[in-house]
Amino acid sequence: MKKEDYYEVLGVSRDASAEEIKKAYRKKAVRFHPDKNPDDKEAEEKFKQAGEAYEVLKDPDKRAAYDRYGHAAFEAGGGFGGGGRGGGGFHDPFDIFREVFGGGGGGSGGIFEEFFGGGGGTGGAQRGGDLRYDLELTLEEAATGVEKEISYRRPVACERCQGSAAEPGSKTMVCPTCGGHGQVTTSRGFFSIRQVCPDCEGSGRKIEKLCRECRGQGRTVKTSSVKLRIPAGVDDGSKLRSGGNGEVGVKGGPPGDLYVVIHVKAHEVFERRGDDLYCEVPIKFTLAALGGNIEVRTLTGKANLKIPPGTQSGTVFRLRKKGMPNLRSGHYGDQLVRIHVEVPTSLTGEQRRILEEFAVASGDAEEPAGPAGKGIFDKARKFFE
Ligand SMILES: [Zn+2]
Ligand SMILES: [Zn+2]
Repeated sequence: MKKEDYYEVLGVSRDASAEEIKKAYRKKAVRFHPDKNPDDKEAEEKFKQAGEAYEVLKDPDKRAAYDRYGHAAFEAGGGFGGGGRGGGGFHDPFDIFREVFGGGGGGSGGIFEEFFGGGGGTGGAQRGGDLRYDLELTLEEAATGVEKEISYRRPVACERCQGSAAEPGSKTMVCPTCGGHGQVTTSRGFFSIRQVCPDCEGSGRKIEKLCRECRGQGRTVKTSSVKLRIPAGVDDGSKLRSGGNGEVGVKGGPPGDLYVVIHVKAHEVFERRGDDLYCEVPIKFTLAALGGNIEVRTLTGKANLKIPPGTQSGTVFRLRKKGMPNLRSGHYGDQLVRIHVEVPTSLTGEQRRILEEFAVASGDAEEPAGPAGKGIFDKARKFFE
């Protein structure tokens, strides 16, 4: 089935504000909600489409990607998330590792709760927190991609109780404070207040004996090692997400994610601008005048560069595909070589004599200059008068 345009699904213009999108979604969601349209397949489909469209358009980064790439932005193996590349036969957990567009993990769970209120508290189960790890790479590593093993401290499931918080062998029982309701009612004068049971935190169950290793937390802080496969083309500030490698969840909740923020070290030779690399190469003024070939350093080795006769200082030559690979497309940028023509700072007597002859031959001087170097200066004076 052909996918419909998200803006059309919500019935908003392409430059609609976030508020307009939210309003439009809410209208559709209420109108096509399955509770209101029982056994109506078409309404159900429309309800789903609206949810999908809103999920993308409410997020500024996803929306920008959608505007640029359309639905292809979110297809598996598509232009997004550095899919497609990555060595064959590499079945490791890092395949879930992908680039994150815009920060903040944020429960992607339900747009639903936002409008229809409450998904029902699940008795204290909580998603583990996200963690951030700052990883420094060289430009070379960023260009080729690299595997890194990192170590960091994070709460993990307690080994003794395997995260259950109960001392091995002890049972869970109905919470005596709330009788298993998870809520208690307190009377204060005229009113009675219902609140979450402070004893079991709403779960309605209590552990007979708390694990003595974690003291009933179910978690202990340990140093974890995680192998990361950094895709080729990451840039300074790229954010990668390693799903599930954050803090372990509380009371059976899912784990958080690990966010790896890339820092690319400044390179001694190359300056990166997008996918292109810039460098400056000095050449002798004789080579600039006569032309010739030079070897230029590239990020991965060397390349031959032809200098045409009469090359001026500041000329930029382009070495195709010697730049950085693009994180998404895998296409390589270029290396741009800016030529700096070096004029000798001192001359031997012989060199000076030859250059003076050259000056006369070029008409830059009328006669061989004396020790005071008069000839050329005279000519220059005439030029400015
Ligand atoms: Zn424990
Ligand atoms: Zn209780």
